Amino acid sequence: MTIKQLLNQAVIMLKNENIELPKNKARMLLQATLKKSREYLMIYDNKQVTQKEREQYIINVKKLISGIPLQYITGKQEFMKMNFLVTKDVLIPRPDTEILVAEVIKIASNIQNPEILDIGTGSGAIAISIAKYVKNTKVYATDVSMKAIEIATKNARFNGVLNNIEFIQSNLFAKIKDQKFDIIVSNPPYIETDVIKTLSKEVQNEPKLALDGGKDGLDFYRKISQEAYKYLKRQGYLCLEIGYNQKQSVRKILENQKRYVNIYCKKDLCENDRIIVSQIG
Ligand code: SAM
Ligand code: GLN
Repeated sequence: MTIKQLLNQAVIMLKNENIELPKNKARMLLQATLKKSREYLMIYDNKQVTQKEREQYIINVKKLISGIPLQYITGKQEFMKMNFLVTKDVLIPRPDTEILVAEVIKIASNIQNPEILDIGTGSGAIAISIAKYVKNTKVYATDVSMKAIEIATKNARFNGVLNNIEFIQSNLFAKIKDQKFDIIVSNPPYIETDVIKTLSKEVQNEPKLALDGGKDGLDFYRKISQEAYKYLKRQGYLCLEIGYNQKQSVRKILENQKRYVNIYCKKDLCENDRIIVSQIG
């Protein structure tokens, strides 16, 4: 069977199961299975694949049909023009989160030698992008999951910023001692517990620990805002990703603390409210 025939077979299988973007997904899976580029598949589309390659590919197509996200099968995701290794132990970095990173980069570029703390780093997407794009910065990145810390460390090494980041396994601020930061950034879990089971199979295959924001989805905003100000330098910034419907509630939580000023929100590219930034007075 040729590359072209195999791709066609996969597209039919994916279409039959109503998988979105079947052509793209079939191609990306074949690239990953054969470890070849997109260009290779186009140029050598009449080349024969081995029986073993075909079997492995069909296994991967079936995994996709079963609801395993493409990125967990290929093991990677692009974020801020960098490549990140992802496994089922970390959230797949989302394009929405690039809005948060862009805002932090903008703020940090006006601070000399900024010290930045990323809470719940997962794959390390936020911390690593900041370390890459902000000059002379030192980033601290925490996660309660040791497996996430391991993946994030690999990603930092792979993207050449391991020396600028310190990874710390910690439940929120528990292991952060007597240190103050210019910016604290977080994309915390923010989905309401009961909503998780209504989401797509793909999202449900991501770690609950990365998604579950408690009964009303706001647990982490309460916990983080209760402590963040103690770990911020004067006029330091707290930059948070939020769910599309959480702007008012998170703003209230910050205002109730009476520590945070200059609160503003920014939308993502789909025009949904996506981040809330505030400063301590
Ligand atoms: N920062 C990554 C990103 O934006 O792609 C991952 C964000 S994910 C929504 C939230 C992360 O918070 C997960 O990696 C999860 O393991 C971590 N987390 C959950 N509870 C935590 C806690 N109590 N302390 C620290 N991290 C926690
Ligand atoms: N953006 C993710 C989703 O909606 C949620 C991530 C989070 O809880 N921070 O699938």
